[in-house]
Amino acid sequence: MKLTPLWTDLTPRPADLPAHDQPEEVDVAIIGSGYTGLHAARVVADAGAKVAVLEREHIGFGASSRNGGMLTSGLKASPEIIEKRYGLDKARQFWQWSLDSIDLVDRVIRDEGIDCGWARRGHLSLAYKPAHFDHFRKHVDYLKNKYGYTGYTLVSRADLKNEIGTQEYYGGKTAETTGGLDPARYVFGLARAVAKRGVSLVENAGVTRIRREDGAFRLTTPRGETRAREVLLATNGYTTPDVAPKARSGIMPIGSYIISTEPLPEALQKELSPNGRMFYDSKQYLNYFRLSPDGRMVFGGRNNLSTSLDLEESARRLHQRMLTVYPQLEGVSLTHSWTGKLGVTYDLMPHIGRENGMWFAYGYGGHGVSIASFLGYEMGRILTGQQSGSLFQEIPHPRFFFTRWDKLFLPIVAQYYRLVDALT
Ligand SMILES: Cc1cc2nc3c(=O)[nH]c(=O)nc-3n(C[C@H](O)[C@H](O)[C@H](O)COP(=O)(O)OP(=O)(O)OC[C@H]3O[C@@H](n4cnc5c(N)ncnc54)[C@H](O)[C@@H]3O)c2cc1C
Repeated sequence: MKLTPLWTDLTPRPADLPAHDQPEEVDVAIIGSGYTGLHAARVVADAGAKVAVLEREHIGFGASSRNGGMLTSGLKASPEIIEKRYGLDKARQFWQWSLDSIDLVDRVIRDEGIDCGWARRGHLSLAYKPAHFDHFRKHVDYLKNKYGYTGYTLVSRADLKNEIGTQEYYGGKTAETTGGLDPARYVFGLARAVAKRGVSLVENAGVTRIRREDGAFRLTTPRGETRAREVLLATNGYTTPDVAPKARSGIMPIGSYIISTEPLPEALQKELSPNGRMFYDSKQYLNYFRLSPDGRMVFGGRNNLSTSLDLEESARRLHQRMLTVYPQLEGVSLTHSWTGKLGVTYDLMPHIGRENGMWFAYGYGGHGVSIASFLGYEMGRILTGQQSGSLFQEIPHPRFFFTRWDKLFLPIVAQYYRLVDALT
């Protein structure tokens, strides 16, 4: 078993992707080369501006090449909670954007001809307990009555067999317009698209210092210095406190872990996932899983919030859970176990904002494949004056009060979620 991501093992950084020197001067410097940074770069470059994407490692190194590749509706915070906080009108907009963001990904993949196994076969969320299915029922009614959304179909426990080859769950709900892709092929495809537009892709260029200079910024990396009129911090779960302390206090890196099997025989694939859906369950410590485009079971989740769980140990735990869901996979070899950091905010909402004049966009939870793409796109429009602001910028942005003491507080938060799973 390899302790590296399946996706970049199957598709390493493409050799034909250019690697540029660090330019001395640009209009916009983007820190981080995931979906947020690359979508923003694409829009800004289209407006004729000179752009550099500065990446500490290699292109797409962060969560964007390590995730489950599942595009699902909604945000991390539920529409019910969002309505309570910001009112129904705003809640409707956030919900609609969660759907629009999938259309955006679909459009960009088509326009740029990105070959990333994108398939819009829908998803199935699964009730882990009987009470969770009651909640699904209420949620589907709520979305229908208040948002006019009729895209969810409830699936009873008896009918689940048409959707998934397990008896582990108490019913589910499907949506048809969602889907899955290979995250690394998607991020490399985006990188090709921006390189074609003249964007400089600068790797091994971790920004260590940002200074204000005559109304502009000067960014220092081990490869040199760049002066930029505008800066976008697109580092999400990989944000470190040194470069942007205030932004780091708004975002918490949380570890998520995935294993994958060897490619499965076609008949077994059909048995496990007759309709090729993306799956996730209703626990706080949820499991998310799917077939990869090459027919493996890709099974993810987490046992705590730590970003440093041993990958052999996490594979053992995820394997156990996978076999509970799918006893049919007994004896099938695991080929990969890996992890990545996603970014979670205090209010579980994505945010756009500015710190000392520098823009940031982050906080997508497990919805970043589509939402990071969307906020990157919005950031591109804001940076080029095509859009004056965003609701993601207007909503209040509460910060974590314990950033300096993560190691102390995170186990307490983790314990709380474990309790919620046990009691609800
Ligand atoms: C294991 C896992 C599974 C997930 N599954 C799903 C899923 O199925 N569906 C879904 O929608 N979302 C999922 N997510 C979340 C999703 O992957 C992320 O929300 C999304 O990729 C974030 O994109 P990003 O561009 O904002 O950040 P990232 O892709 O994380 O990119 C940030 C980049 O910034 C770079 N960086 C950091 N600091 C600096 C610096 N100082 N200088 C230069 N570069 C720097 C990092 O090296 C990194 O490459 C998952 C995440 C993980 C970790």
